[in-house]
Amino acid sequence: PPLRVLLLIDSGAEGQLLLQELRRAKMPIEYTTARNQHELVRELESFSPQVVLADFPMRHFDGMAALALAREHAPEVPFLFVSGTIGEEHAIRAFREGAADYVLKGNLRRLPRAINLALEGAKERAAGIKAARKLTKERERVASIVASLPDVVWSADYESHQILYVSPKVEEIFGVSTQAFQERPDLWFELIHPEDKIVVLEAWRGLHAGARFDLEYRIRRKDGTERWIHDRGRLIRSPSGEPERVDRVARDVSIEAEQRQRMARMLRVRDLIGSINSALIRVRKRDALFEEVCRVVVSVGGLRGARVAMVSPAAESLVWSACAGAQSLPAAETGGPAVQALISRLLHIGAPAVWNDLGSEPDEALKSLLAPEGALAAAAFPLRVEGRTAAFLALYSSQPGYFDDEEIEVFRDLSANLELALELIAKQEKLDYLALYDPLTGLPNRTLLREHLAQALETARRDQSKLALMLFDIERFKSMNDAFGQHAGDRMLQHTAGGVRAAAGDIQYAAHLGGDVFAIMMPHLHDAVNVATILRERAERILETPFLIDGRELRLQIKAGIAMFPDDATDADTLFRNAEAALKKAKQTGDRYLLYAPQINARVAERLELEHALRGAIERREFILHYQPKIELETRRIIGLEALVRWQRPGVGLVLPGTLIAVLEETGMITDLGPWVIEEAMATYRSWRDRGMPAPRIAVNVSPLQLRQPEFTRHLQSEMDKMPAPCGLEIEVTESLLMQDMEAATRKLGEVREMGVGVSLDDFGTGYSSLARLARLPVDTLKIDRAFIQGMTDHPDDTSIVTAIISLGHTLHRTVIAEGVELEEQARLLRLLRCEQIQGNVFSPAIPREKVEALLSVH
Ligand code: C2E
Ligand code: CA
Ligand code: CA
Repeated sequence: PPLRVLLLIDSGAEGQLLLQELRRAKMPIEYTTARNQHELVRELESFSPQVVLADFPMRHFDGMAALALAREHAPEVPFLFVSGTIGEEHAIRAFREGAADYVLKGNLRRLPRAINLALEGAKERAAGIKAARKLTKERERVASIVASLPDVVWSADYESHQILYVSPKVEEIFGVSTQAFQERPDLWFELIHPEDKIVVLEAWRGLHAGARFDLEYRIRRKDGTERWIHDRGRLIRSPSGEPERVDRVARDVSIEAEQRQRMARMLRVRDLIGSINSALIRVRKRDALFEEVCRVVVSVGGLRGARVAMVSPAAESLVWSACAGAQSLPAAETGGPAVQALISRLLHIGAPAVWNDLGSEPDEALKSLLAPEGALAAAAFPLRVEGRTAAFLALYSSQPGYFDDEEIEVFRDLSANLELALELIAKQEKLDYLALYDPLTGLPNRTLLREHLAQALETARRDQSKLALMLFDIERFKSMNDAFGQHAGDRMLQHTAGGVRAAAGDIQYAAHLGGDVFAIMMPHLHDAVNVATILRERAERILETPFLIDGRELRLQIKAGIAMFPDDATDADTLFRNAEAALKKAKQTGDRYLLYAPQINARVAERLELEHALRGAIERREFILHYQPKIELETRRIIGLEALVRWQRPGVGLVLPGTLIAVLEETGMITDLGPWVIEEAMATYRSWRDRGMPAPRIAVNVSPLQLRQPEFTRHLQSEMDKMPAPCGLEIEVTESLLMQDMEAATRKLGEVREMGVGVSLDDFGTGYSSLARLARLPVDTLKIDRAFIQGMTDHPDDTSIVTAIISLGHTLHRTVIAEGVELEEQARLLRLLRCEQIQGNVFSPAIPREKVEALLSVH
């Protein structure tokens, strides 16, 4: 296509010349001319020339102005001057202003080439501009793409961490300006959550070894919020293989992370609820259920700890009953103001109480009460059972803020289910209770008694002990019930039940079998006869408090039938049947107590009768003292007396203490009799001294029970205060007593001796005192037991024992006395063995006071 040329010329002739030259160069052209400024602008626009040729100078137009105008309107079109003489100065200026070339009129041959060169130059320039423009565009596009990415893109120097580039997204994700990010190379690392720093650092180091840097971590922004970041990076190496920089893409994945966590939590919660529900179905015992719930909440629910506390009925203390997690339970029961405040707070709000920031909880007492070490959040869920808050489920997390609405909702559901289970358990317990307890009296019923009985028999079998089962009913209950009405009858039964419960000691040994029939079982018996004492005790306890009706006291009486294991039966059912049979028989015969086995019955009846009689005897003071002299072997003189009690039983005569003492000791009545004996003996002694008679010391036997009484020494002292010293009193205690509680007895006897009262060790040789113990005992006299003395003449063994005791006594500087000396031969032998004193029928049996007085006066 022809070249479009715009000619700036004065005359056509000049133009022809130029055109001719171009034609000659075979350059096809199309042209137009412009003579002034106006035409130039118009043609530049309408003709759009490819090249401008300007004559220089022109008449109507300044060449330089034309150049400027052309540069302005069509800067890409090359502008050439064609001139006669342009002059050096103009030429330089023309080039500076943007002219492509100038051709002298005298050398027009150069014109086509100059045009071509200018066109080429223009073309190149145009291409350059286009390329630059394209590059800028590209840059803009990349920047816009990078800016629109959801990720931060950045590049950092591997060694110095210096940020080489970071995309503006950093401001949104990390909350810091690009500038700050670039200025402080370690800012990125500082922002990482302390718990995640190590992992990130390791990943960074791994880069060097060729590992991928691709991980998630948390950052803690300056505004306090946390974000999850997914960061991927690539190590870029220099051509020589040196690590140079790391190019990274980091994305905010907080939402995904949260969703993931939520998902995990949901799964956990689902598992948790599943496990709890299965526990609720499975576990039927309250405590076991609590244990299981705590365990599941910790192991499945991932909490730090869980506890259950029962609220006491008065709502003033907590009884911790289960726990799980890294902790131990507080003291089983906690009370006090902090607890009460907590309870009333919880009861008051009636909804879960949440402490999501225990770390800054000011109430230390509450904190230590609520949560174990390391718990930073806690929640307490009240458990309502049968209309009252019966317990709390307390949960702990080591994550502050853990108990959000969702979590609370879950545990609220859980505690609702737990409440349901507890409600069921309570119902079940009530049913069990009704099945096993008598609703009127609250005592175990027949079924439960049989169970308890079977257990107790098991133990008795193992211990080889005896057990008595006593069934009894209230005498004339039916007629009283008829007379006073059923309501009074019920009260009577309840009253009796209270007594039965007290008498049995343990509710599992008591029962109400229906009607007016009750039962008490008495385990751990060792002798069939001592059942009598126990029986009496129990029966007394049952009816200890009188029954009040219409303001009057009504003494209830019982009739009892007793069967013994293993004497009467070896299994629960037979024992029960035999006790029933005994009761039935008691009602026929009118006996108060009847044992199933007749031979024991007789003994028990006798024994009970004796007890009864002795009680009366003590009240009526039917006792007297006889005195048996103690003789000095050397001189055969009376150097003491032993006071021995006798019972003047009306209609029977004088009864020796023999079995009485045992009964009095078993029943404790000895402590009523003992003081009297001392008083009586000392009154005798006083009267002798008052009358100026010879008054030997009187020894009184003191039972262990008596000695153990705290008031014993006080009583002794008050007796002694009645007269000036010497008191003339001695006590005799048996060796076996001292063995039972060596220390206390030693102390007591020491006190007694301090008061000037002599102490004899009675029945010596039958106990097992060790020599060492004996040496420390505060006793003055050893009294060799009667049995050895009686055996002495026939059994050489007994003689050697007596010999040994005598020399032992002397070694320990104790006086030795032999009791029960009946024969002169025994006395002689004892004297040979250098025994100092004797007591026995050989000289005198125990005799009444008047006879002693006679004996003393002749002596
Ligand atoms: P004991 O302390 O060993 O008293 C000595 C017993 O031996 C007395 O029996 C006495 O009568 C008896 N006796 C004395 N000389 C002879 C003899 O030559 N041959 C035989 N076979 N017996 C002789 P007693 O009076 O029946 O007393 C029995 C036990 O009752 C006493 O044994 C003593 O342990 C206890 N006892 C007696 N009176 C009291 C008392 O007032 N209080 C306490 N706690 N126990 C007492
Ligand atoms: Ca004695
Ligand atoms: Ca004795």
